[in-house]
Amino acid sequence: MDIDVFGGEQQDVFWIVGMGLTQRHAITMRPGAVYAGQSVPALCGAELKIPQPTPIGRDPRSKAVTDKCPTCADRTTGANCTETTWDF
Ligand SMILES: [Zn+2]
Repeated sequence: MDIDVFGGEQQDVFWIVGMGLTQRHAITMRPGAVYAGQSVPALCGAELKIPQPTPIGRDPRSKAVTDKCPTCADRTTGANCTETTWDF
């Protein structure tokens, strides 16, 4: 059974790595609208802590993380959404 989490609306989702995590989770909040240390809910229900921004000239630590949370992946698969991989 398909669960339409976005109510048929086109939705942007952002795949981010929360502080201290080793998997990407999907959030619907724009990364520009959150601040370091804030907790935001992922689609799977996990609380993600927004990491500190990476200093200019360095690669974000999360850049190497390609594993995706299977629950978040399930919720975005087939949904009407634009997915963006985001590193802070
Ligand atoms: Zn997740």
